[in-house]
Amino acid sequence: MARYNGAVCRLCRRENEKLYLKGERCYTNKCGIVRRGFAPGQHGQGQMRKKQTEYGLQLREKQKLRRTYGILEKQFANYFVIADRKKGITGENLLQILEQRLDNVIYRLGLGVSRKEARQLVLHGHFLVNGKKANIPSFLVKIGDVITIKEKSLSSPKIKELIEISNTRTVPEWIEYDTNTHVAKIKALPLREQIDIPVKEHLIVELYSK
Ligand code: SF4
Repeated sequence: MARYNGAVCRLCRRENEKLYLKGERCYTNKCGIVRRGFAPGQHGQGQMRKKQTEYGLQLREKQKLRRTYGILEKQFANYFVIADRKKGITGENLLQILEQRLDNVIYRLGLGVSRKEARQLVLHGHFLVNGKKANIPSFLVKIGDVITIKEKSLSSPKIKELIEISNTRTVPEWIEYDTNTHVAKIKALPLREQIDIPVKEHLIVELYSK
């Protein structure tokens, strides 16, 4: 399936917000938003001053969330359908589903400096869920699932480096992570207040409800 492979900083500049798509660079002065805080393209600076329509605001929130998690349009729309069918608040359900993706969980563990890197690691088969091979980034974890690093991968220099980084990261409360054994367990599904994504999800619900 085709994915966006262009300059990712353009995506943040388009949303005029840091989406943290590039790992460590996002926390430095080299960040595209810090250096060039206006929309990309010839008319970028003018666009930032334009008043947004209601539709425009809804669209921007959707794009922001979709790009943060690196999801294609169609799959994002499918997630919305699932979120809408679930009990509870649709917008919060949507965020919860996105958080349940295996690539996101790996990123949350710090085993990937960006969701994109975490996705690559999953694709390369470095992880197991409940002892079974799990190389599908969109796999949705559930309560009680146990995520481990494949025995063979533990000796890989790249994985060793990421484990060291992950030991310095704060893991969200809904995941239990043992930094000695590198075993993670899904304790609960995340609540809205445990998801640090500054998105107005109700605008996305409004967009899809038209
Ligand atoms: Fe976005 Fe990171 Fe690029 Fe900054 S460095 S613009 S946060 S992807």
